[in-house]
Amino acid sequence: MDFVYRSSPAEIIFGSHSSEKLSDCMVKLGCRRALVLSTAGQKIRAGLFTDRLGGFAAGQFSGAVMHTPVPVTEAALHYARQIGADCLVAYGGGSTIGLGKAIAYRTDLLQIVIPTTYAGSEVTSMLGQTENGLKTTLRSDKVLPEVVIYDPELTLGLPVSVSVTSGLNAIAHAAEGLYAPDRNPVSSIIAVEGMRKFAEALPKIVADPADRAARTIALCGAWLCGSVLGQVGMSLHHKICHTLGGSFNLPHAETHSVMLPHTIGFNAAVVPELLAPAAAIFGKPLGRGLQDFSRGLGAPIALRDLGLTEGDLDRAAELATQNPYANPRPLDRQAIRAMLRRAWAGLTPEG
Ligand code: NAD
Repeated sequence: MDFVYRSSPAEIIFGSHSSEKLSDCMVKLGCRRALVLSTAGQKIRAGLFTDRLGGFAAGQFSGAVMHTPVPVTEAALHYARQIGADCLVAYGGGSTIGLGKAIAYRTDLLQIVIPTTYAGSEVTSMLGQTENGLKTTLRSDKVLPEVVIYDPELTLGLPVSVSVTSGLNAIAHAAEGLYAPDRNPVSSIIAVEGMRKFAEALPKIVADPADRAARTIALCGAWLCGSVLGQVGMSLHHKICHTLGGSFNLPHAETHSVMLPHTIGFNAAVVPELLAPAAAIFGKPLGRGLQDFSRGLGAPIALRDLGLTEGDLDRAAELATQNPYANPRPLDRQAIRAMLRRAWAGLTPEG
């Protein structure tokens, strides 16, 4: 067994009302002028942090959107320079965190992140950006946040649909982590525990979105699954979702939700022993177990419901297999097309 172990150097502050420690975190980092970031939808909630920071807040930018378009980053960057920001406070999900990372990549500004979904971007050195309709991904230590504050109280109002799809997105990081060629004993343990946390919490959140205990478990699962994504390389599932999002403009978390049972079921056929811990959690065969779990949560099941047409399937299969990448099962274009066809129609997965 050979491996190299690295993990996010971020300070993790977890707990109910932990976001009240935001200004203390700024002081510890030696910062005095925060730029608070959010999406438009979270503008009012982010404003509560801006207000609470008082003189420590230099300004607020609430224009974050999905897939981190470069023109939005440039507008935020211009504003950050105008107000003399010395750190970034990203309040929100992967879209807002992506904006913070994109600014940090260009400026080295320190980042404090307060995640409010389960997507996991806050503990990875990855940044996806879009320009002229093309999405590219880079890895750089410059985008790693310095502090992550997980406050379950801030997730009580996260809509059930976003809770479910961003939670399934997180499970996908963990599931692919189990067969990553660069996995290590720690990443595999974290992956299994992360999946367990979501298997327990998501059904409870669907039943009662304000269930504090379940929200706490899910947010902890987000940290764990995000940590797996930050530590090891991803394979077929992430590649296909990246293709469907980048080239066909499908929504990120929903696409992960639909594809998860199909891609993991596809690979489970060749590495059942590596995925056995996931099958023990979600049921056998694993693809069907995952789809039953998703269906029970009310998650989308078919790509056609997300806007993909049947005529797109050939091109999607071609794009997903044209550059070689690590995957436990050989990437045969016809087999991938058949898998995409099942996912498109909302059929049960192969495995
Ligand atoms: P998101 O950040 O786009 O949020 C989804 C919606 O939920 C938004 O409208 C947002 O305003 C709203 N929202 C967020 N938190 C809320 C709350 N607590 N209450 C009410 N509404 C809330 O969605 P996401 O799934 O977190 O992130 C998706 C993006 O993150 C994609 O662009 C994806 O590529 C990126 N991502 C990156 C990484 C990485 O490591 N680089 C990892 C995962 C996802």
